[in-house]
Amino acid sequence: MNLLEKSQAVETLFGELEAQSKQFHVEAGMGCISGCGFCCSNPEVPASALEFLPLAFDLYDKGQAEVLAEQLAATQSKGVCVVYRAQSADLSKGFCGNYTKRGLICRVFGASARMNTKTNQKELITCKQLKSERPAAFQAVSARINADLDIPLAPAYYTRLKDIDEALTALHPVNEAILLALELVLRYRFYEEEDKAN
Ligand code: SF4
Repeated sequence: MNLLEKSQAVETLFGELEAQSKQFHVEAGMGCISGCGFCCSNPEVPASALEFLPLAFDLYDKGQAEVLAEQLAATQSKGVCVVYRAQSADLSKGFCGNYTKRGLICRVFGASARMNTKTNQKELITCKQLKSERPAAFQAVSARINADLDIPLAPAYYTRLKDIDEALTALHPVNEAILLALELVLRYRFYEEEDKAN
Protein backbone atom coordinates (compact mmCIF):
# COMPACT_ATOMS: atom_id res chain seq x y z
CA MET A 1 0.00 0.00 0.00
CA ASN A 2 1.34 3.44 -0.81
CA LEU A 3 0.71 6.40 1.49
CA LEU A 4 -2.42 7.54 -0.33
CA GLU A 5 -3.89 4.03 -0.19
CA LYS A 6 -3.14 3.89 3.54
CA SER A 7 -4.96 7.18 4.00
CA GLN A 8 -7.93 5.85 2.03
CA ALA A 9 -7.95 2.68 4.18
CA VAL A 10 -8.02 4.89 7.30
CA GLU A 11 -10.97 6.84 5.86
CA THR A 12 -12.84 3.60 5.16
CA LEU A 13 -12.28 2.56 8.77
CA PHE A 14 -13.52 5.96 9.97
CA GLY A 15 -16.61 5.59 7.79
CA GLU A 16 -17.50 2.32 9.53
CA LEU A 17 -16.92 3.84 12.95
CA GLU A 18 -19.00 6.89 12.02
CA ALA A 19 -21.96 4.72 11.00
CA GLN A 20 -21.75 2.69 14.22
CA SER A 21 -21.31 5.79 16.36
CA LYS A 22 -24.27 7.57 14.77
CA GLN A 23 -26.47 4.57 15.49
CA PHE A 24 -25.22 4.53 19.07
CA HIS A 25 -25.91 8.25 19.56
CA VAL A 26 -29.43 7.95 18.18
CA GLU A 27 -30.26 4.98 20.39
CA ALA A 28 -28.48 6.28 23.48
CA GLY A 29 -29.90 9.79 23.15
CA MET A 30 -26.62 11.12 24.50
CA GLY A 31 -23.83 12.93 22.69
CA CYS A 32 -21.21 15.58 23.42
CA ILE A 33 -22.32 18.83 25.06
CA SER A 34 -22.99 21.38 22.33
CA GLY A 35 -20.08 23.80 21.83
CA CYS A 36 -17.82 21.89 24.22
CA GLY A 37 -14.18 21.68 23.16
CA PHE A 38 -12.79 20.41 26.44
CA CYS A 39 -11.14 17.31 24.89
CA CYS A 40 -9.60 19.31 22.05
CA SER A 41 -8.13 21.86 24.45
CA ASN A 42 -5.78 19.24 25.87
CA PRO A 43 -2.38 19.56 24.12
CA GLU A 44 -1.52 16.02 25.22
CA VAL A 45 -4.29 14.32 23.24
CA PRO A 46 -2.49 11.12 22.18
CA ALA A 47 -2.61 10.46 18.45
CA SER A 48 -0.67 8.80 15.65
CA ALA A 49 0.52 10.03 12.26
CA LEU A 50 -1.57 7.33 10.58
CA GLU A 51 -4.90 8.57 11.91
CA PHE A 52 -4.10 12.07 10.64
CA LEU A 53 -3.12 11.08 7.10
CA PRO A 54 -6.60 11.96 5.75
CA LEU A 55 -6.31 15.41 7.37
CA ALA A 56 -2.79 15.89 5.97
CA PHE A 57 -3.84 14.91 2.41
CA ASP A 58 -6.82 17.25 2.70
CA LEU A 59 -4.62 20.14 3.85
CA TYR A 60 -2.21 19.39 1.00
CA ASP A 61 -5.05 19.51 -1.53
CA LYS A 62 -6.12 22.87 -0.07
CA GLY A 63 -2.56 24.23 -0.39
CA GLN A 64 -2.18 24.56 3.40
CA ALA A 65 0.12 21.65 4.25
CA GLU A 66 3.47 23.36 3.84
CA VAL A 67 2.61 26.50 5.82
CA LEU A 68 1.05 24.48 8.61
CA ALA A 69 4.02 22.08 8.79
CA GLU A 70 6.41 25.04 9.03
CA GLN A 71 4.25 26.61 11.74
CA LEU A 72 4.17 23.37 13.75
CA ALA A 73 7.90 22.78 13.34
CA ALA A 74 8.66 26.36 14.47
CA THR A 75 6.58 25.97 17.62
CA GLN A 76 7.93 22.43 18.18
CA SER A 77 4.34 21.22 17.91
CA LYS A 78 3.49 22.63 21.32
CA GLY A 79 0.00 23.77 22.31
CA VAL A 80 -3.54 22.69 21.58
CA CYS A 81 -4.46 20.94 18.35
CA VAL A 82 -3.68 23.23 15.42
CA VAL A 83 -7.08 22.41 13.90
CA TYR A 84 -9.00 23.48 17.01
CA ARG A 85 -11.00 26.73 16.83
CA ALA A 86 -11.37 27.92 20.43
CA GLN A 87 -14.35 30.13 21.25
CA SER A 88 -13.57 30.97 24.88
CA ALA A 89 -10.56 32.42 26.68
CA ASP A 90 -10.00 29.25 28.71
CA LEU A 91 -10.18 27.21 25.45
CA SER A 92 -12.84 24.89 26.87
CA LYS A 93 -15.44 26.01 24.29
CA GLY A 94 -14.80 25.63 20.60
CA PHE A 95 -15.06 23.39 17.59
CA CYS A 96 -12.96 21.27 15.27
CA GLY A 97 -11.84 23.20 12.20
CA ASN A 98 -11.79 20.05 10.06
CA TYR A 99 -14.37 17.75 11.61
CA THR A 100 -14.66 15.33 8.68
CA LYS A 101 -10.91 14.63 8.73
CA ARG A 102 -10.42 14.41 12.49
CA GLY A 103 -8.36 11.56 13.95
CA LEU A 104 -9.40 8.28 15.54
CA ILE A 105 -8.95 9.57 19.08
CA CYS A 106 -11.35 12.42 18.25
CA ARG A 107 -13.93 9.90 17.04
CA VAL A 108 -13.87 7.41 19.91
CA PHE A 109 -14.53 9.93 22.71
CA GLY A 110 -18.18 9.87 23.75
CA ALA A 111 -18.95 7.34 21.06
CA SER A 112 -17.27 4.07 22.02
CA ALA A 113 -16.40 1.74 24.86
CA ARG A 114 -13.51 -0.30 26.19
CA MET A 115 -13.69 -3.59 28.11
CA ASN A 116 -12.78 -3.54 31.79
CA THR A 117 -11.01 -6.88 32.06
CA LYS A 118 -11.49 -7.03 35.86
CA THR A 119 -15.26 -6.58 35.82
CA ASN A 120 -15.75 -7.92 32.27
CA GLN A 121 -18.00 -4.92 31.67
CA LYS A 122 -17.93 -2.37 28.86
CA GLU A 123 -17.00 1.14 29.97
CA LEU A 124 -18.09 4.21 28.04
CA ILE A 125 -15.10 6.26 26.87
CA THR A 126 -16.08 9.80 27.70
CA CYS A 127 -14.94 12.98 29.43
CA LYS A 128 -15.33 14.29 32.96
CA GLN A 129 -17.49 17.16 31.65
CA LEU A 130 -20.18 14.81 30.46
CA LYS A 131 -19.96 12.65 33.58
CA SER A 132 -20.40 15.69 35.83
CA GLU A 133 -22.97 17.61 33.75
CA ARG A 134 -25.15 14.63 32.81
CA PRO A 135 -24.61 12.05 35.56
CA ALA A 136 -28.02 10.38 35.18
CA ALA A 137 -27.65 9.97 31.41
CA PHE A 138 -24.08 8.71 31.86
CA GLN A 139 -25.20 6.08 34.40
CA ALA A 140 -28.12 4.99 32.26
CA VAL A 141 -26.03 4.63 29.10
CA SER A 142 -23.24 2.84 31.02
CA ALA A 143 -25.81 0.26 32.14
CA ARG A 144 -27.42 -0.08 28.72
CA ILE A 145 -24.13 -0.76 26.85
CA ASN A 146 -23.83 -3.87 29.01
CA ALA A 147 -27.39 -4.90 28.30
CA ASP A 148 -29.10 -4.06 25.03
CA LEU A 149 -27.32 -1.10 23.44
CA ASP A 150 -24.71 -1.63 20.71
CA ILE A 151 -21.61 0.53 20.98
CA PRO A 152 -18.39 0.51 18.94
CA LEU A 153 -15.42 -0.96 20.81
CA ALA A 154 -12.48 1.44 20.55
CA PRO A 155 -9.71 -1.19 20.94
CA ALA A 156 -11.04 -3.05 17.89
CA TYR A 157 -10.68 0.12 15.81
CA TYR A 158 -7.15 0.71 17.11
CA THR A 159 -6.24 -2.86 16.15
CA ARG A 160 -7.62 -2.31 12.67
CA LEU A 161 -5.66 0.94 12.42
CA LYS A 162 -2.50 -1.02 13.27
CA ASP A 163 -3.36 -3.53 10.56
CA ILE A 164 -3.04 -0.71 8.00
CA ASP A 165 0.51 0.25 9.07
CA GLU A 166 1.62 -0.47 12.62
CA ALA A 167 4.83 1.55 12.21
CA LEU A 168 2.78 4.73 11.84
CA THR A 169 0.63 4.15 14.93
CA ALA A 170 3.14 5.27 17.58
CA LEU A 171 1.41 7.78 19.85
CA HIS A 172 2.46 11.43 20.15
CA PRO A 173 0.86 14.64 21.43
CA VAL A 174 -1.71 15.64 18.81
CA ASN A 175 0.25 18.39 17.05
CA GLU A 176 3.32 16.16 16.74
CA ALA A 177 1.15 13.49 15.13
CA ILE A 178 -0.30 16.05 12.70
CA LEU A 179 3.19 17.35 11.85
CA LEU A 180 4.44 13.81 11.18
CA ALA A 181 1.46 13.17 8.91
CA LEU A 182 2.04 16.45 7.06
CA GLU A 183 5.73 15.64 6.55
CA LEU A 184 4.87 12.20 5.18
CA VAL A 185 2.32 13.64 2.75
CA LEU A 186 4.60 16.48 1.62
CA ARG A 187 7.40 13.96 0.91
CA TYR A 188 5.01 11.58 -0.84
CA ARG A 189 3.61 14.31 -3.10
CA PHE A 190 7.12 15.69 -3.79
CA TYR A 191 8.42 12.35 -5.07
CA GLU A 192 5.19 11.77 -6.97
CA GLU A 193 5.68 15.09 -8.79
CA GLU A 194 9.34 14.22 -9.48
CA ASP A 195 8.34 10.85 -10.93
CA LYS A 196 5.83 12.58 -13.21
CA ALA A 197 8.47 15.06 -14.39
CA ASN A 198 10.96 12.28 -15.31
S1 SF4 B 1 -8.60 17.17 15.03
FE1 SF4 B 1 -10.45 18.30 15.60
S2 SF4 B 1 -11.56 16.92 17.04
FE2 SF4 B 1 -9.41 16.21 16.92
S3 SF4 B 1 -8.31 17.21 18.62
FE3 SF4 B 1 -8.05 18.50 16.77
S4 SF4 B 1 -9.73 20.00 16.90
FE4 SF4 B 1 -10.25 18.31 18.28
